[in-house]
Amino acid sequence: MAWFICTFEPEHAVEHHYFKEIHFTGNNKLIMKKIWLSILGALLLLVLFILIKTLTFKSDRSEVSKVTPVEVGDEALYRLQKAIQYKTISYSYPGKPDSTEFTGFHQYLAMAFPLIDSFLEKKVIRYSLLYKWEGSDPSLKPVALMSHMDVVPVDEGTLADWEAPPFSGEIKNGMIYGRGTMDDKVSLMAIMEAVEMLLQSGYQPARTIYLAFGHDEEIGGEQGAGAMAGYLESQGVRLDCVIDEGGLVMGGLVPGSDRSFAMINVAEKGYVSFELAITTEGGHSSMPASDNTIGSLANAITKLEANQFPYKNTPLLREQMAKMGPYYPFVQKMAFANSWLFGKQILKVLNAHTTTAPTIFNGGVKDNIIPTSASAVVNFRVMTGETTEEVLQHIINTVDDDRITVKSVANRNEPSPVSDYNSASYKTIEKTVQQLWPEMAVTPGLISGGTDTKHYQPIADNAYRFFPIRVTLSSITGFHGINEHLATENFKEIIQFYHLLIRNMNE
Ligand SMILES: [Zn+2]
Repeated sequence: MAWFICTFEPEHAVEHHYFKEIHFTGNNKLIMKKIWLSILGALLLLVLFILIKTLTFKSDRSEVSKVTPVEVGDEALYRLQKAIQYKTISYSYPGKPDSTEFTGFHQYLAMAFPLIDSFLEKKVIRYSLLYKWEGSDPSLKPVALMSHMDVVPVDEGTLADWEAPPFSGEIKNGMIYGRGTMDDKVSLMAIMEAVEMLLQSGYQPARTIYLAFGHDEEIGGEQGAGAMAGYLESQGVRLDCVIDEGGLVMGGLVPGSDRSFAMINVAEKGYVSFELAITTEGGHSSMPASDNTIGSLANAITKLEANQFPYKNTPLLREQMAKMGPYYPFVQKMAFANSWLFGKQILKVLNAHTTTAPTIFNGGVKDNIIPTSASAVVNFRVMTGETTEEVLQHIINTVDDDRITVKSVANRNEPSPVSDYNSASYKTIEKTVQQLWPEMAVTPGLISGGTDTKHYQPIADNAYRFFPIRVTLSSITGFHGINEHLATENFKEIIQFYHLLIRNMNE
């Protein structure tokens, strides 16, 4: 419409009754034209700027030469099969671990890896295992390779949906099935395989290496990782870093490309669940009050879902965008290259905010009684830079209802510090990945779930969460889900990764 007015001759405009009030002079016309031309010019410049940013958006990765990985035999697979058969399940806290399964697993490890058993110092802390592989150079800070031997239970009702029984370790069509093939016996066994092979070849590390395998990660890790970290602290140990689960190799992220991303997660979100409870006078359902129990609590939950925490950009996320963006097709790449403009969409994809998830809702006992109480639990994963206390304040302010009480239930963990993604140890992990798989893009990242690394915070300079388990958007459901499985070839790759990583860490 604006363009239409400007193309009118001023004389006509004055005569026409719609434009009675507009008195164009030659001067005005020129000014309008200039304004529109400047707007058009600015728009063109903007488009040009976006295009240049996109076209010059290149990966800054350094090239490393490919290394031939160590050869891994099929016996490693049979040992993993056997490991999967131990039902080292963590039931809900403070459930008792099944001692037969855990000690049986310990004995199996001692038998399967005789060199580790005789050359490394072993300490059993409750059912967790801490090995120390003494380095030759005491001036180097030790590192800890972490994993956990416990697994989550299997829902009996889903047994029929498994390709193979969950504690069989059966191999079918190049896949090994069972609890622990993804989370997390797979990395425990891969670390053991790599160390045993290195010992076999007479390798001696310069840096002391701890192998720290918890037994209760799935229920918080207090008794396992917590106690092991406490023990190391009491011995005056200060670690350069811990390397644990929690990062992976993601395939299929980029539409139309088979490029995989190795995500070395350097931070994890916090974890907190709050119970919201309401008590009222209740009453008979024939005479309901306008603000009855269940409705009021439901209203509070609805308000929380409607008032989400804002998305946040951080230096880590900017780094992640810089590392991942160059590999995307043009349109997505344009968004990554111009995050100042399209940042919100990307942050949404990266889930870069404190998330709100109602998980439990309880209330009512009979169809014709308005209950006197109801309660609900909402789980939050707290974004780096925020605190669980801020989440509590957000609930109180958003719900704004004095009748509703709020209290923290279950585990409560603040977001982790962000580990240094420019440190020598980070670069070593990155280099190891690139030496084995030169085509893989490597990026630091933030993980929404929690790991045992939190227990090592007081004694480790950095915590990195990564081992090269290959997943896609569909297979990732195997973590804690049905049909947990892994390609047998991938297990061999994970062993090759640890084998090279240990050597690289000691260069
Ligand atoms: Zn795990």
